[in-house]
Amino acid sequence: METFKVKAFGAESSKADLKEMQIDRRTITPKDIEIEILYCGVCHSDLHTVRNDWGGTLYPAVPGHEIVGKVVRVGEQVTKLKVGDLAAVGCLVDSCRECESCKQDLEQYCLNGFIGTYNGNDKHLHKQTFGGYSEKVVVDEHFVLKVPKNLDLAAAAPLLCAGITTWSPLRHWKVGKGSKVAVVGLGGLGHMAIKLAKGLGAEVTLFSRSPSKIQDAKDLGADDVVISTDSEHMKSVKGKFDLIIDTVPYVHDVNPYVSTLSINGTLVLVGYLGDLTPMLNSVPMIMERKSVAGSVIGGIAETQELLDFCGEHNIVSEIEIIKMQDINKAYERMLKSDVRYRFVIDMASLKN
Ligand code: NAP
Ligand code: ZN
Ligand code: ZN
Repeated sequence: METFKVKAFGAESSKADLKEMQIDRRTITPKDIEIEILYCGVCHSDLHTVRNDWGGTLYPAVPGHEIVGKVVRVGEQVTKLKVGDLAAVGCLVDSCRECESCKQDLEQYCLNGFIGTYNGNDKHLHKQTFGGYSEKVVVDEHFVLKVPKNLDLAAAAPLLCAGITTWSPLRHWKVGKGSKVAVVGLGGLGHMAIKLAKGLGAEVTLFSRSPSKIQDAKDLGADDVVISTDSEHMKSVKGKFDLIIDTVPYVHDVNPYVSTLSINGTLVLVGYLGDLTPMLNSVPMIMERKSVAGSVIGGIAETQELLDFCGEHNIVSEIEIIKMQDINKAYERMLKSDVRYRFVIDMASLKN
């Protein structure tokens, strides 16, 4: 298959800083869209992947799955977008498209494994996929999204992961007016969860370790903030929430949050992947019919639904724009929870 070279930023190993490199993109096939990337959000998953926190990272690793840009070339069978249109790509660039999940627009749960925008298994080039920390990306039109024109483009980028990852559980668990929702952790995902739950009409509480974020959370729309390290404060919301979205990236005790669920309430883990320590206590699950669940990103149709909802309600992310060359410093700040609330890379900096 024919390819062309583009500039990118990636890491050669789990210990290495990200640096400029050249990667191959495939020349468009009839169903492909070639996108010039204008902005790319920085997700905590990018950092987990580069540092091999989950194992299985293929190097060089070029992360980035909150991609927005402009269509520069389309294959002859493409109908979704045309040259010059705005386009977006999230966490998925392919799936089998035939299994029961794919048929139900749940490509993120493809029974044959979805193909991630980075560190996926590229069907065309037979090596790892490379993400949005690059000049261009080539993606099958099915996996390309339309961006509402009224949204600030840079601030819309994080909708492609932080947005859809929190939107999908809000929709699955049917959050709306009258729902009581809590969000654990005020970072990229957490701040989008607050905005989206408010947009759906819910009453929203933030659980945070950081008293310095109380005012920000309220400015973002939270009705209440509970400091999770204060056990008395935690007791004051016992039995309250219908849905809790837990975005914390590292292992933590989930039991104190379960006790703040109402009967039939559900805590959805979207942050931490792995064994829970301490273990979950089954008593509240049995005696109060509570659930602890998980959720991964969202399908393509649901991501478009989210983008359209954000267009109608004028919802975008709170961002700090950085240059591509500052990505290593940005990762260090993200590790200290020092992001308000999403870094977005201005890809023009890669052209310099
Ligand atoms: P982030 O911007 O770094 O935010 C995480 C927040 O969690 C922090 O701001 C902090 O909030 C809290 N936190 C951090 N470390 C903590 C600790 N040790 N104990 C308790 N709280 C802690 O990260 P993000 O980009 O939102 O991503 C969050 C997680 O979701 C990552 O693990 C990422 O890989 C994962 N993710 C999952 C999906 C999915 O599909 N399921 C999609 C995207 C990302 P406070 O200061 O308010 O406590
Ligand atoms: Zn992500
Ligand atoms: Zn499938």
